Amino acid sequence: MLKKLLLFMLTTLFILGCGSDKSSSDKIKAAASFYPMAEFTRAIGGDLVVVDTLVPDGVEPHDWDPSPRDLTRLGKSKIFVYNGHIESWAESALDALSERKITAVEAGHGLDKINGRIDPHIWISPAKALIEVNKITEAFCKVDPQHADNYKQNSLKYSQELQKLDAELKELSKTAKNKKFITAHAAFGHLAADYGLEQLAIAGISPEAEPTPKDLQRLVRLVKQEKLKYIFMETLASPKLTELISKETGAKILVLDPIEGLDEEGRKEKLTYIKLMQNNIKNLRLALNE
Ligand SMILES: [Zn+2]
Repeated sequence: MLKKLLLFMLTTLFILGCGSDKSSSDKIKAAASFYPMAEFTRAIGGDLVVVDTLVPDGVEPHDWDPSPRDLTRLGKSKIFVYNGHIESWAESALDALSERKITAVEAGHGLDKINGRIDPHIWISPAKALIEVNKITEAFCKVDPQHADNYKQNSLKYSQELQKLDAELKELSKTAKNKKFITAHAAFGHLAADYGLEQLAIAGISPEAEPTPKDLQRLVRLVKQEKLKYIFMETLASPKLTELISKETGAKILVLDPIEGLDEEGRKEKLTYIKLMQNNIKNLRLALNE
């Protein structure tokens, strides 16, 4: 079905493409799959690039699929930035749009495995976000070599912010009384692995991977055993199970945001990856030092 749809879109794109005027903007059009990829792309592209984020704000990217309209948007972009794995649709979409010669950047390519197991939440580790940002920068320099210096400068500035987060997490892992933390879905594996912490997740890699009652019992036991004072919930997923564990154990709930997308409040407050990570680190520091 998706293939048929893609084929149809492709034909429509060609028809539409012939009549389009380019005078509206000389900025480079970039598409990004979901929120963190869009923010990294905006940071590097600066004034030279307009970024279209395909997954809308407030929508969980794990179970999102592009509509024909979204594919038209993707087809208009010169460069497409995605993380890898979260966007199971990316390859077939790019195949169907191969005539458009979009430069595709799989920013998380080669960074996805932890102890041999794939975890797509690469951006949540500032150490790996730095590598993703570098890959995106290289792609822009290739697509628009005239402005390579601008992209490199923007990238350097943003990387300095990421390095601050990296340094804070290194410091936190050195000083934390406890290394274990409980999260809603398993989105913090790379952060835990890169900074010597241990994530215990209520749900699986995808928020829809439902835990069994046995899993929940195990987590309740663990919270009691380890005397954890805090457990984490996130913004886009249901807080039900976290609340259940909190009720059973008396542990308080804090937010740990996997930064997969902004909710309405986040949008209003103009939150950024950097600000959300600062908040994550603040809450982790609280939880790991009680
Ligand atoms: Zn996730």
